[in-house]
Amino acid sequence: MIKKLLLGSLMSALAFTAGAHQHETTDHIFTPDTQRIKSHLFFLADDLLEGRDTGSKGHEIASLYIATEFAKYGLTPAGTEGYIQRVNFRKANLIQESPEFTLTRGGDTHEFAYPKEYLAGPSLMSTESNVSGELVFVGYGIVADELSHDDYADLDVEGKIVVTLAGKPSDFPSEEGAHFASGYQKQRYAAERGAIGMITITTPKNEKVRPYQSRLNYIHTPRMAWLDENDAPANSFPQLKGGAYLSEGAARTLFEGAQQSLDDVYAQLEADEVPAGFPLVGTVNLSKQSTHETITSPNVVGVLEGSDPELKDEYIVFSAHSDHIGIAKSVKQDKINNGAMDNASGTSVMLETARLFSAMDVRPKRSILFVAVTGEEKGLLGADYFARNPTVPVTSMVANVNLDMPILTYEFADVIAFGANHSSLQASVEKAAANADISLSPDPWPDQALFTRSDHYAFVKQGVPAVFLVPGLQSKDPNVDGSKVFGTFLSTHYHKPSDDIKQPFNWNAASTFTKVNAQIGWTLANQDEAPSWNDGDFFGETFGQ
Ligand SMILES: [Zn+2]
Repeated sequence: MIKKLLLGSLMSALAFTAGAHQHETTDHIFTPDTQRIKSHLFFLADDLLEGRDTGSKGHEIASLYIATEFAKYGLTPAGTEGYIQRVNFRKANLIQESPEFTLTRGGDTHEFAYPKEYLAGPSLMSTESNVSGELVFVGYGIVADELSHDDYADLDVEGKIVVTLAGKPSDFPSEEGAHFASGYQKQRYAAERGAIGMITITTPKNEKVRPYQSRLNYIHTPRMAWLDENDAPANSFPQLKGGAYLSEGAARTLFEGAQQSLDDVYAQLEADEVPAGFPLVGTVNLSKQSTHETITSPNVVGVLEGSDPELKDEYIVFSAHSDHIGIAKSVKQDKINNGAMDNASGTSVMLETARLFSAMDVRPKRSILFVAVTGEEKGLLGADYFARNPTVPVTSMVANVNLDMPILTYEFADVIAFGANHSSLQASVEKAAANADISLSPDPWPDQALFTRSDHYAFVKQGVPAVFLVPGLQSKDPNVDGSKVFGTFLSTHYHKPSDDIKQPFNWNAASTFTKVNAQIGWTLANQDEAPSWNDGDFFGETFGQ
């Protein structure tokens, strides 16, 4: 610790004396107040907030608390009503008795059984869904020019229902693959080619990861989307009028009489080949009914204005989701999913970061925007809304640092910054970590594509370089195995009522994490050049401004 600090001040002194570097701002070592982090957590994870579900009173109270803290620090309100940016959502529930799925072939009609043979999610577009059409198998249903892959080549799907395999080809790179194989992209490829519905079929690989049987636990889960100014659900394709997810048995029936059987297709997957598409025999009719309700829930936004007359028009964005999953349907005594680690901890660290910046005598050059987003647990919805309806110009947001579910129970010796390898943010995170006497480790789970799985990705999709910062798996205490602690949290407490304030928080870890987070912001806000995507980076090329 001392050695690093000495080195830091020596380098600052050098920077000050060397003429060419006089404009470089010296490092600032932040001193977080752990008592404040603790008190935020005590409040946000309390039972009275009932698990902060999107649209609930508990989450409204959490948001009011965050806005009040922002006011206390003197942040400039940057929502649409003070600190609040209210978001309207449509919540759709499926009427469980309603789904019908029939296959007509050569005069015979076969009816599939819901939910034993197929699943149908609620429709966000209409309360009455009905679609009939011929079927075309389209492989994975992916079009990826960058990977020279087009499952729709030579297929005519205009006015037809496409049948796609779940997942993506095994040779796709993990993060790019997650982009191309997302539900949104697959629907887009189908809709753009004139399809009117989409049926997804499971694969043997997919069954190993998420068996059809396990999906039956989620058939009552509502679907949500934010509503635009015309009350239309975002990220939806109205031309796709129906869909279903098929079990292996039902899929086998669907392929009967076609030029290849389902087993022929599965054999190609087994051999790592990408199956080409072809028409299936017969027509199907899909119908279901959904109920719709409109709910409202806030993002909370505050800005610390920068000190440089020009650079203050650029924003470093800190984000953390304040929502969680609300009250469990379990019959056990404790039904409240407090979400202490997910993500009262990240929100608390962000609040302390905001306070540390606002307490500085010399403000950073760029402005810093703090946003507590809602709807993360419903599919990164609040962040997507903010990134698509930002309260500052989208091009002025030059970097995003996102905090989601930092496990603050052991003194970690490293941090992980998902996405750092895509942009110049890597160097800033490395420097911040070194100033806190820890290191930056590479992504330990590249095949999980975590870079695409939290709120920062909503900013990435608007071209903003971003990192998702979490404590690493190395421990300063030789008796603590960080990987094990993380694994146990996931298997035992993640999205369960036991993720509460009784978790063994380590306040030194909370302090170190806040320090690294603030230091990243400080570096980004003061460096001469705005952060940039690496040359030729896929995400920079795909979404860059
Ligand atoms: Zn969660």
